Amino acid sequence: TDAYKLVSRKWKVNPTSIDLGDGVQINENNFTLMAGPCSIESEEQIEAVVEQLVKNNIKIMRGGVYKPRSSPYAFRGLGIEGLKSFHRICRANGIKIITEVMQVSQIEEMMEYVDIFQVGARNTQNFNLLDALGAVDKPVMIKRGISGSIDELLQSAEYVFSAGNEKLLLCERGIRTFEGAYRNTFDINAIPILKEKSHLPVIADPSHGIGIRKHVERITLAALVAGADGAIVEMHHEPEKAFSDGQQTLDFDEFSTLVAKIKKLREVA
Ligand code: PEP
Ligand code: MN
Repeated sequence: TDAYKLVSRKWKVNPTSIDLGDGVQINENNFTLMAGPCSIESEEQIEAVVEQLVKNNIKIMRGGVYKPRSSPYAFRGLGIEGLKSFHRICRANGIKIITEVMQVSQIEEMMEYVDIFQVGARNTQNFNLLDALGAVDKPVMIKRGISGSIDELLQSAEYVFSAGNEKLLLCERGIRTFEGAYRNTFDINAIPILKEKSHLPVIADPSHGIGIRKHVERITLAALVAGADGAIVEMHHEPEKAFSDGQQTLDFDEFSTLVAKIKKLREVA
């Protein structure tokens, strides 16, 4: 038997479109930009970022409230209370939310505050989590594992799809290689390969993909040209003060410049 079937182009030729409601769709017709801080930190921070998104006509904000940190002493997120603030401020401004779910027990309490569940690179092969998200009526974006192959990512997506949830997005966020000159090796090749193998939308994460703020713009544009359906980027009003991943986080000027450059190449939504 095949390792995966339902997520493959052989099974479904037409590209999948993810509908978030209120006219927000992720598909091949435009380039979907999702942006926001690595971690949700405060209401002031959420408000500042939301204002910036509205100004640039961007409809989806990212931000973690459950943070998988390498060190247990690092900031691990504001949890469900942070998510409630995140949701309240975004809803008041017509912004959708993508945020990471780390474990099965969090799904239910997060449900009403989330538009897209993100499965992080450290959880790509948490098969219990994938099974549980298969029973959820919300889109799920699955990141490629830190040392995961393209085929393993597709098999993880197959877990969710075969358990009943077809609203899936695939995300290339860089992999661990021998190279130490940057954080991760953003695998540009994965984008056309994933698009060829699967009907699911493919999202690039250039922030984690290279891990260096000044190069995020170039990698985002490269991913667009390579055929990505969108990108998720880290953005913050004061990146140097961010609680996590500040070194790869765009400030507002850099973000606006990125949006302008994308608009020259594709319709952005
Ligand atoms: C994140 O999006 O902040 C994150 C933790 O990403 P990843 O799972 O790709 O490391
Ligand atoms: Mn991050």
